[in-house]
Amino acid sequence: MRIGIVGLGLIGGSLGLALRALGHQVYGIARHPDTCVAAVTLGAVDSAASDLASLAPVDMVMVCTPIAAIAPTVQALVPHLSPETVVTDVGSVKGDLVQAATAHWPWFVGAHPMAGKAEAGLAAAAANLFMDRAYVITPLPETPPAAIARVQDLAQSLRAKVLTCSPSDHDCAVAWISHLPVMVSSSLIQACLQESDKTVLKLAQTLSSSGFASTSRVGGGNPELGLMMARYNREALLRSLQGYQTQLAAITHLVETEQWSALAATLTASQQARPQFL
Ligand code: NAP
Repeated sequence: MRIGIVGLGLIGGSLGLALRALGHQVYGIARHPDTCVAAVTLGAVDSAASDLASLAPVDMVMVCTPIAAIAPTVQALVPHLSPETVVTDVGSVKGDLVQAATAHWPWFVGAHPMAGKAEAGLAAAAANLFMDRAYVITPLPETPPAAIARVQDLAQSLRAKVLTCSPSDHDCAVAWISHLPVMVSSSLIQACLQESDKTVLKLAQTLSSSGFASTSRVGGGNPELGLMMARYNREALLRSLQGYQTQLAAITHLVETEQWSALAATLTASQQARPQFL
């Protein structure tokens, strides 16, 4: 298949490497000529250009830009697409984006490969990024089944675990397991910094070990990612934050009122539930 990739960063570059390894012909689009040269040199694309018109021959386009640029990119692609060319994306939040992109191009299929790395950019791209990771496809009721099937087949060929759900269910689910943890983890770091006794704070920083490393990891990561989650998945994130505040208030009450058996029951229920998320 001839596949266009717009945005040759971590995800676009990784898709290019994986798809070329499967024998597809990959046409890349990047804003900067240097990125075009780097993508060809890395082997992430067969050819690259800055003009969307170069995608006229492709059978499918994967939009791998930051979220804000996805729907405008789909709109800009329209004059260059043949009928029934499938356009898909990789954005980490789906809601309004899928509606907007579908309004521009009915053969748009929203998707989110749930794979990533701490590093961004083409240099961090890896062909095996999607293997054994979830690849969520988020069509609308009106999305043509043939378009959905083509994206499902492609995701399966990457050896990803393909799932299908509505854009809003996707956004609510990722709010709980991805976006809320970033805010909770960031709040944990900020709460520790509220310690006014400098000796205690220094001691805490010296003593922190694997438990703090695990619980602070996502909150101490790339701030741009957290900001993106809050801006584009605001409603679902607020819903999750409210649920978390309710739970935190409940557990605070159990400690204040020394309800140790109720606290033990909560902690046991959490211990038993954790494997269902992992
Ligand atoms: P990235 O490494 O920063 O790459 C983004 C690419 O998009 C860069 O090549 C950048 O090119 C290009 N770009 C930026 N603004 C653009 C614009 N206005 N028009 C055209 N191209 C533009 O980011 P990424 O991690 O690959 O993320 C890309 C998409 O994947 C996002 O929508 C994100 O939500 C999604 N995603 C990310 C992850 C993750 O963990 N990183 C996981 C799943 C999905 P320049 O070099 O010209 O700036």
